[in-house]
Amino acid sequence: MSAILLRGGDLVTLDDEGSILRRTDLLVRDGRIAAIGEAATTDPEVAAALERGTAGEELEVVDVPRTLVLPGLVNAHCHSPMTLQRGAAEDMPFSRWLPEIWRIEKNLEPEDIYWGAALAAVEMIRSGVVAFNCMYFRMEQVAAVVRASGMRAALGETVFDPGAGTEAGDVLERAVQWTASIASDTEDPEDSEDPAAQRLRVFLAPHSPYACSRPLLEKVVEEAHALGVGVHLHVSEDQRQVDESRRRYGTTPVQLLESIGVFEVPGGCVAAHSLVLEPRDVEILALRGVHVPHCSITYAKLAMETFPLQPLIDAGVRLCLGTDGPASNADMDLFAVIRHTALMQKYMARDPTVLSGDTLLRLATRGGAEALGFADAGVLRVGALADLIVLDADAPHLQPAHSPIANLVHSVKGSDVVHSMVGGEWLMREREVLTLDEAEIVFEAARRGAALLERAAGERPA
Ligand SMILES: [Zn+2]
Repeated sequence: MSAILLRGGDLVTLDDEGSILRRTDLLVRDGRIAAIGEAATTDPEVAAALERGTAGEELEVVDVPRTLVLPGLVNAHCHSPMTLQRGAAEDMPFSRWLPEIWRIEKNLEPEDIYWGAALAAVEMIRSGVVAFNCMYFRMEQVAAVVRASGMRAALGETVFDPGAGTEAGDVLERAVQWTASIASDTEDPEDSEDPAAQRLRVFLAPHSPYACSRPLLEKVVEEAHALGVGVHLHVSEDQRQVDESRRRYGTTPVQLLESIGVFEVPGGCVAAHSLVLEPRDVEILALRGVHVPHCSITYAKLAMETFPLQPLIDAGVRLCLGTDGPASNADMDLFAVIRHTALMQKYMARDPTVLSGDTLLRLATRGGAEALGFADAGVLRVGALADLIVLDADAPHLQPAHSPIANLVHSVKGSDVVHSMVGGEWLMREREVLTLDEAEIVFEAARRGAALLERAAGERPA
């Protein structure tokens, strides 16, 4: 037996009943939660190991008093290598920000993508994220980071129409080839030679209906069926895009995608943002089980239109939360997104009762896990994947602990996370990231970020 016993933490399970179990033990075995509560310590093998004093060899006992233990967070929409562009395009409207970002991206070297994603991975692990959904290009570099970091991820190689002026994207053929190479491994992870196969999923990732033509989107749907994968894209980010879609296609982006079959691909569809919706759009998103990552900080920072979430939840749309790229958010801390979403939504609705803390934490855990295709993660219950985090509940800003849920939504900081685990494997212990060389990554990312902007400045029109 090789198992880990977490002893004496306060478990915020986010199970169907919303159970909070104070000073409770949790047993992890074979990558899953094997027992909770008394059953964890009375498990015959655990009891025997404790009795024999052989804990440490076959049973790792970790005492976690005065902590909160909860499912690890899932960042359901991001562009992890964009850490290198953090702070590079500030105080601009979205319409100027996007071309500026694309102009800088043209100067990226493949290895930059590895180091940018590695920096994001360190940031995410440190702040409690255990899985992320990333859309970018040169995704083999990001896959290398996923393999090394021990995180779970869904990855999508971004596709544009060649010559659409967006440059940084890739043509569909290369994306399909790469997606197929990962999909064949992850289809039957038990048989795969890739030890990370269980932690990896792939999406086809056409950038958006405004950056991809209808024939390209149709081809993506065809390929998604052939490969048995889902689609991750950006949808209806502002009114301009919806107006443009009406002019070009006579319908909204959501209804265009519905007519092409994008929402009926085998691995499901993740439609990031979906901020400007009409009632029929909402019905379609709910009917097709489309996952919608909401990235509140990006919308506020770029002063974009945003949408009240409560009506989407009431309509049955499957929401989740994301940081988006750090060029438009400035960090990868999903706890910050949880708090920001709560504040924005309550403020917009002029109603402090909307989006309870419990709901938000579920969007940030199980909602994201389902979007990425890891349906048995995002909850602390027996049989679920052991993807969990442990937070220091002793911090001054978490006293007194009247409500663990309120503390997690409004008071916690990403830096309160002390331990992190995916599939029963430690990613971080006592705030030390075990899977990645943090010092080297910080050094390389800073160096490469500076060189990237120097190259981009060389081509800036006078
Ligand atoms: Zn995005």
